Amino acid sequence: MVGAATACLLARQGLDVVVLESALPEPFSPEQPMDLRVSAISAASIKLLQKAGGWEAVLAMRSCPYRRLETWEWDGFTTRFDAAQLGLPELGHIVENRLIQLGLLAQMESLPSVRTITPTNVVALEQDQHYARLTLDDGSRLQARWVLACDGAESKTRQLAGIGVSRFEYRQHCMLINIDSDDEQQDITWQQFTPSGPRAFLPLAGRHGSLVWYDNPARIRELMALDHSSLEQAILRAFPARLGGFRVTGRGSFALVRRHANHYHAGRVVLLGDAAHTINPLAGQGVNLGFRDVACWSELLHGAGERWHELTLASRYERKRRPDNLLMQSGMDLFYAAFSNRLGPLPVLRNLGLTLADKAGPLKSLALRYALGV
Ligand SMILES: Cc1cc2nc3c(=O)[nH]c(=O)nc-3n(C[C@H](O)[C@H](O)[C@H](O)COP(=O)(O)OP(=O)(O)OC[C@H]3O[C@@H](n4cnc5c(N)ncnc54)[C@H](O)[C@@H]3O)c2cc1C
Repeated sequence: MVGAATACLLARQGLDVVVLESALPEPFSPEQPMDLRVSAISAASIKLLQKAGGWEAVLAMRSCPYRRLETWEWDGFTTRFDAAQLGLPELGHIVENRLIQLGLLAQMESLPSVRTITPTNVVALEQDQHYARLTLDDGSRLQARWVLACDGAESKTRQLAGIGVSRFEYRQHCMLINIDSDDEQQDITWQQFTPSGPRAFLPLAGRHGSLVWYDNPARIRELMALDHSSLEQAILRAFPARLGGFRVTGRGSFALVRRHANHYHAGRVVLLGDAAHTINPLAGQGVNLGFRDVACWSELLHGAGERWHELTLASRYERKRRPDNLLMQSGMDLFYAAFSNRLGPLPVLRNLGLTLADKAGPLKSLALRYALGV
């Protein structure tokens, strides 16, 4: 998602781009079941995807706008956000990650200054002050002013550039469960915090939804081993009654890992998206931060005009993006720590906090604007 968005934006700014991809996503057809990997795409990310030229194609496939968001631990202590509070038509869209990739790939194909090489892997990287040079697995070589590492959390390019990463594994894993719902398509996403981890609902296009169940790794392993009908019983016990009637259609599980690259660049190699940072997904901010990286990098290059290849741009990029990414990572960790703790007065304090947050008026709007990037 991040690499394809970068390619489209830079090509539209008049630069020649070569995209190296190890595996293209499967093409879309409407009868396909919903993918497990979905993202809550914020209003700011939608603007970026529109600018990149990929959003119309996403809408033509499938997505689900959401207008309301609710979060609580104890009933009656709820924080509610509504697009109407900000005068927005919606807070964002829930979209399958693959469809965002496909929307952007279609746009890339229409841009003559983007060339895609796939399937391929980079096996070597060297650079001097002026150029970076890559060797691909078929032995061919490429030379470029910039190498943009958008190859995800386990970025090979980051390793080849010799950039280290700090890493923290949360004591919770997360299970994604796709459901068919008895209710019509919904416009609300909600999350309940429980002592063993949050339980969340994300609406998907049609009568579909995605459930997110955070719990300790052993419990997630147990749940993964259940058949669909036993899993449905477990969900009925663990999720709030507002979920209504449903049937499980798919499931998968993920370890939750926070990573932050020690540097966002090494010479002419620049990291964007998950290659630079991953966060706890409890507020659905991961790829939205990645898209903020893309916006920042493309604006820096655009603003530099003829001097778009000057090395100092990479350190300016890091100075702009690291504090924002760190703030979001730390915010998610604060939530994780506060809501994973059952000690002393903390449960009462955090529930009062949620009620106060709901009544915080301008502050609440400010927090929402920050999360949505508007
Ligand atoms: C359970 C879970 C739920 C999440 N929910 C949300 C959410 O609601 N909202 C949100 O914003 N974020 C969410 N995220 C985070 C989001 O999924 C990631 O931030 C996002 O996928 C990162 O995008 P990316 O393009 O940087 O990397 P990736 O999506 O990992 O893409 C990397 C690309 O690089 C390619 N590649 C990898 N290695 C190589 C190589 N060696 N050579 C060539 N190509 C290569 C891959 O094929 C892929 O196309 C969630 C994450 C998890 C784990």
